[in-house]
Amino acid sequence: MRAEFKNEVFVDFKDERNNAEFEAALKKVEAELGKEYPLIIGGEKITTDRKAASINPANKTQTIGIVSQADIPLAEKAIQVAAATFETWKRTDPGERARYLYRAAAILRRRKHEFSALMTLEAGKTRVEADVETAEAIDFLEFYGREMQRLSLPQPLTVSQEEENELYYIPLGVGVVIPPWNFPLAIMAGMTTAALVTGNTVVLKPASTTPVIAAKFMALLEEVGLPAGVVNFLPGPGGQVGDYLVDHPLTRFISFTGSRDVGLRINERAAKTHPGQKWIKRVIAEMGGKDAIVVDNEADLELAADMITTSAFGFSGQKCSACSRAIIHEDVYDSVLEKVVERASKLIMSNPAEAGANLGPVIDEKAYAKILEYIEIGKQEGRLVLGGGTGDSNGYFIEPTIFADVESTARISQEEIFGPVVAFTKAKSFDEALEFANSTDYGLTGAVISRNGAHLEQARREFHVGNLYFNRKCTGALVGTHPFGGFNMSGTDSKAGGRDYLLLFTQAKLVSDRF
Ligand code: GLU
Repeated sequence: MRAEFKNEVFVDFKDERNNAEFEAALKKVEAELGKEYPLIIGGEKITTDRKAASINPANKTQTIGIVSQADIPLAEKAIQVAAATFETWKRTDPGERARYLYRAAAILRRRKHEFSALMTLEAGKTRVEADVETAEAIDFLEFYGREMQRLSLPQPLTVSQEEENELYYIPLGVGVVIPPWNFPLAIMAGMTTAALVTGNTVVLKPASTTPVIAAKFMALLEEVGLPAGVVNFLPGPGGQVGDYLVDHPLTRFISFTGSRDVGLRINERAAKTHPGQKWIKRVIAEMGGKDAIVVDNEADLELAADMITTSAFGFSGQKCSACSRAIIHEDVYDSVLEKVVERASKLIMSNPAEAGANLGPVIDEKAYAKILEYIEIGKQEGRLVLGGGTGDSNGYFIEPTIFADVESTARISQEEIFGPVVAFTKAKSFDEALEFANSTDYGLTGAVISRNGAHLEQARREFHVGNLYFNRKCTGALVGTHPFGGFNMSGTDSKAGGRDYLLLFTQAKLVSDRF
């Protein structure tokens, strides 16, 4: 019997001993930089001629690893191996499947700084952000293990006198898992292990900017003895290999986290039935957000400023939960704006692997160019009050950027920027603030800072987002505590880290037996 699930405690980096331990881990990781990483199909390590380098976004001259790239024949092989392995894996005891997750969690906990250190280098996360992410990865493993054990217990049914009835949650088959780069450990591990613990086999296509952290997780799965072929590691170009995997008739489901465009493309492609395909493919998609923090006129304005600053600029705004719109009641607008500018101007933008950095670079050249383009658009649509510029040109650094007096219909109020840019919009009333908040195609997270109970009740009913937070930030959902996922163009509301999540990877079979 396992102890009840509890969220992993974050490391306190104010304690110098923790920084020293982190630095030792960083040295270890740095000694391994530039290594080559093969594909892994059925436990076989395959090196290909075509390779891609993963680089440090804070220092473009530093190579994190060189990663073999799949082509179509290897994608085919991965699907075939996953399909063959499914025949045995689906019959393994759920307890056994869960124990692989618990063992992986235990190792991850022991070596947590090593995984976090690699994230500071490959994803540009600060120590604090990387540690929070490693904690989340541990949480997913611990939580989904227990969830699988719960689902494998006899399920409640109306009792019949004449029959014995049982409901079983059985797996689906081969899943294609396409995780994002912004939580390259936690979300990647969560998506992968949710699929495998429920008895499915996986073809994992890691994000092209963060494949090394995924390779390190693969090594961990091997270390705990997960049978070969349960997870097949297939880095490769999204367009070609990704499409092939999604289209394949043996693919039973696709679990995707990433941009709206790619998510919709996957959804459309998955809807087409290919010759030899026996099922309707299932798509589990977590896409973007255009998340707002609403500040009421009766509110703790210091708290509001703290929460906007953290939610907008943590990990340079590269979270789908990030606050990219601050919608403020006109009575307190100037005051909140001033306080956020004051806080944001003090944020230290530097090498994220070093202690004290508050924000690092954005992920790559493409993101950098896109965010700078939005900053130019913002200059037409609002008043630039902070930032807008770039930092050390060895990396993709963009300053925390604040635009004031932006209409809620402006492009920077409607389109996902995925960078350290926040638009302030003035609202005449709480009603109008909520109307603005609900005015995008997305519906992922949102927060309201208010002391007015009636307004909070109104927001509870009307603010249409999957994760709604009162008097706190709109980022940082905790596994089990804040099941995470959104409405509308934010995805399928699949609620990662929640009690319904594993059901998405199963189908329920009812057996009714009359003796
Ligand atoms: N779950 C994360 C949070 O609550 C965001 C995940 C994402 O950006 O995909 O901040």
